[in-house]
Amino acid sequence: MIDTRPFRDSKYAKAIAQEIEQLSEGKNIRIVHVCGTHEDTITRHGLRSILPNNIKLVAGPGCPVCVCAAEDVDMAIELARMGHIITSFGDMIQVPSTSSSLVKERMRGADVRVVYGVNEAVEIAKANPEKDVIFIGAGFETTAPTMAVEILRGPPDNFSILTSLKVIPPAMEILVSLEGFNVDGFITPGHVSTIIGTNAFRPFAEKHRVPCVAAGFEPLDVLEAIRMILNQINDGRATSENEYTRVVKPEGNLVAQKMLRHAFYIDDAPWRGLGVIKKSGYYIRDEFARHDARERYDFSPIESIDILPGCRCHEVILGMIEPKECKLFGKRCTPEDPYGPCMVGHEGTCRIHHESGAL
Ligand code: SF4
Repeated sequence: MIDTRPFRDSKYAKAIAQEIEQLSEGKNIRIVHVCGTHEDTITRHGLRSILPNNIKLVAGPGCPVCVCAAEDVDMAIELARMGHIITSFGDMIQVPSTSSSLVKERMRGADVRVVYGVNEAVEIAKANPEKDVIFIGAGFETTAPTMAVEILRGPPDNFSILTSLKVIPPAMEILVSLEGFNVDGFITPGHVSTIIGTNAFRPFAEKHRVPCVAAGFEPLDVLEAIRMILNQINDGRATSENEYTRVVKPEGNLVAQKMLRHAFYIDDAPWRGLGVIKKSGYYIRDEFARHDARERYDFSPIESIDILPGCRCHEVILGMIEPKECKLFGKRCTPEDPYGPCMVGHEGTCRIHHESGAL
């Protein structure tokens, strides 16, 4: 096991922060990350407080349940109301949607079960052959291979997945295309990079002339990634680099990528707060349609509401506002009773800021 203690050493952290100050030379630099775990590291360890004021760290769309479109959650709720067994990660069942959530449906008698992995959902299907069992599969490139492997293994016929799986690079394309969205560098997500590799971000970095650095999840990882971004800026370079070399390879995980290609195709997908993003979602291939809840069940058309009145998740997800700028933060909306999706899971920016005491 890797000893992570050196990656939390405050002496080194301060030294890198000083170097960041010298490298940035007072220029205003805006660095965006697209990973809830990075926001957790940055906030929990107070990294913003040791950086010079001219370096701004912004959280983008990096929380899978936050960007899960209301229409997907509404479909999951409809499946629960049909009487099927619904399985999901714990944060997903709390995500508020148009008029309910899976946890509310469970309180009304629906069979909604929390699992730690899709493999557990398959075991539930095997143990309940008389029932349909559906796994609500929200996530990014990181969790998609776990679903691909179960589809390819051949689960029982009563098992299917409602996918809400997202691909990160197209969301970064949307961010840079937004008017007024200034970004000088991206900290690219370590988990996602483990699967798709740092090479996957190179075309984006070069096309938009924005340095990208994949970072790990310890405080020194993030600081080092910022230092590497500043070096690229100062050298006039814009490419995809790797700070997280102890885990991430330039080419990523080729076995996982092969499984993803076999089980899924990529098409347009709705993101909560961002609308439909071209080629940004994994969908189950036709040959596995019997395990695709979207193909298997008839859903009644409903007008899904992505952002409930007063919630500013779409602005939080785009890094346009801080969570505390939402009037509902810590009042109507708390981790115990989340009103918007960004307050639900441990990767949600509002939840992270709430737990850090940013009231
Ligand atoms: S505090 Fe709650 S209501 Fe406000 S933006 Fe965050 S999740 Fe939405």
